Order: sequence, then C-alpha cells, then structure tokens
Amino acid sequence: MKRLILDGESRVTMADAPEPVAGPGEVVIQTAVSALCGSELHDYRSGGVAGGNNGHEAAGWVRALGAGVTGLTVGQRVGVSAIAGCGHCTYCALGQYTWCRGFSFYGNMHAEQFLAAANACHPLPDDVAWEAGVLLTGDGLGVPYHTSTKLADSVRTVAVFGVGPVGLGSVLLQAHLGRRVIAVDRSATRLALARRLGAQAVVQVDDGDPVAAVRALTDDTGADVCIEAAGRPESALACFAAVRTAGTVVFNGEQGALPISPSEQFIRRDITAVGAWFYHFGEYPAMLQLYRDGLRLHDLITDRLPFADAADAYARFAAGQTGKVLLRYTDEA
Ligand SMILES: [Zn+2]
Ligand SMILES: [Zn+2]
Repeated sequence: MKRLILDGESRVTMADAPEPVAGPGEVVIQTAVSALCGSELHDYRSGGVAGGNNGHEAAGWVRALGAGVTGLTVGQRVGVSAIAGCGHCTYCALGQYTWCRGFSFYGNMHAEQFLAAANACHPLPDDVAWEAGVLLTGDGLGVPYHTSTKLADSVRTVAVFGVGPVGLGSVLLQAHLGRRVIAVDRSATRLALARRLGAQAVVQVDDGDPVAAVRALTDDTGADVCIEAAGRPESALACFAAVRTAGTVVFNGEQGALPISPSEQFIRRDITAVGAWFYHFGEYPAMLQLYRDGLRLHDLITDRLPFADAADAYARFAAGQTGKVLLRYTDEA
C-alpha cells in the first residue's frame, strides 16, 4: 500500500509501505479521505517525518480488527480521532481523551491504510458523507467546536485573528451561533473566504493597525472574545489589546514564549485567557447535531485532490491561500 512521506524542505514523496497490522484494541482503516492540517506544515517545511507523515484527520472503512475489539465491524464507515485515551481513567470515561494522562497520538493517516485506536473511532451515519465525516471527526471542526465550549452564552462579538483552516472554522461556527464575527488576516483570499463563511467584517492587517480597526468596529470597546488562531506573538498581543475590558482571549495557535505583563494584559482589565486544544471525543454528538441543524461544513473545503496529487495539495496549502484541503482515495469520496 502507498503512504505519503514528508521528506522535509517542502518535499513529499509516495512510498510503498507494509500493510499495517492491528494490535490489541486497534483497527486498520482503509482510507476514503484525509485532510491537511496547518499543524503539519512545520515538519513539511523543515525536517520532515521519518518514514511517514503526521496526517491526523481521516475517515474510511474498518478493514481489520485487533484483539479484544468490540463494537466495530469490518466494512463499517468511521471517522477517527487522532488522540486516543488510555480507556480506563476518569477523563476517558467522559470522552475527554486530551485530558487523559496516558493518551496516544496516531498519525500516518495520509496513506491508503492506517492504524487507529478502536476507542477513537466515530461511526459515520448514512447521512454523513465522507467530506463531512472527516471534518466532524478530525480537528477541522473539532478545534472550533471545543473553543466554542469555552465561551459564555452572552458573547456577541468575536474577532478571529488568523483565518487559516482553524480560524475559518471558528468564523463559520461563531456566525452559525448568531454572533457577530470579525476576521483578521493578511491573506485577501482567506478574508474573502471568511466573508463567505459568515464574517460580518474583515480586517486586512497590512492596511493599518488591526487593533484600532477591531476597536473601530466595536464602538471603541473591543470584541467580547478574541480567538488567536495565527500562532504568532504579534497576533497574540493584538488579541489582548483588541478584546474588551472583562473579555476573553482564546489561544488556538501553537507558539513559544510571549512577552506578557500580568498587570497590563490581565489584572487591570479583568481579562480571562484560556487555551483550547483539539477536541473531546465525547463532543462528536454535539458537532453532528450542529451539522444536521444546517452548519455549512462543506464551505470550509476549497481544494479536493486525488491522493496521487498530494505534492500539489501540500504546495497549495503551504502557500496560505486555501481553506481545508482534502485528499481523496476513492471515487466515492
Ligand atoms: Zn490538526
Ligand atoms: Zn485515560
């Protein structure tokens, strides 16, 4: 079977790999579709991934069951969570795998077959086609949904700083929830996409001070919530400056140290800052319900390519002008 190899230095190749074998509690998935995630780009551009890839959003058919697996059948359609809990702690009992101290990460999902933990598979109902399935079970909607659980019902205005795929997901979801959304980015293409997904206003960061622009759009009080989805220090500091007094800053974008003053950024304006990572396995039913209630998930996807054209898919994605990019492994997807 074929597996994508991230060679580093922005190169990818297709290699023959042995068919995966399911260990106890695992399943082999025959891939129908996989999605590219911004978190893969660091390895793509730098040192690559030895012998494989860090693809972690995919859906397909259960092909083989490992020892002790119950509740899944061969041929069943599933989407998978790349984070699998240990299965026997109190967090796992609540489906909160990212909080489990013994969780495992499954990658290598840009391949014709891959391994997944059986307890991390979400069955896909018949009304959920492959494209919706991979967005509902990967972090494409997962991160925006998990982020939304951190926000009070009273929130009315949300500014999203950085509208790559994760930021665009928050634009779509927050607009769907009836909030006024302001999208902030450098890419005109992505800002246009944000408008199509429901942003009522967009701020092009090169047109001037984005903080002043967000304040001007909010009667000079600032947004109730600023979501940092760019993973950049200047964007994070702009979020603190553009949020209203007593507002909330949510961190989605990974980054290192940041020069923050407790007095300036938190204390004197009663600011709350929270992190939100991946999603909880147990949040899938709520996301499925949002989709069935009309959340326009498909609009997040801008590019669909056959698996054989993965190099082209990465090049497009890395250029920073796309929404979600999907690889298809079957004509059905
Ligand atoms: Zn991801
Ligand atoms: Zn656990």
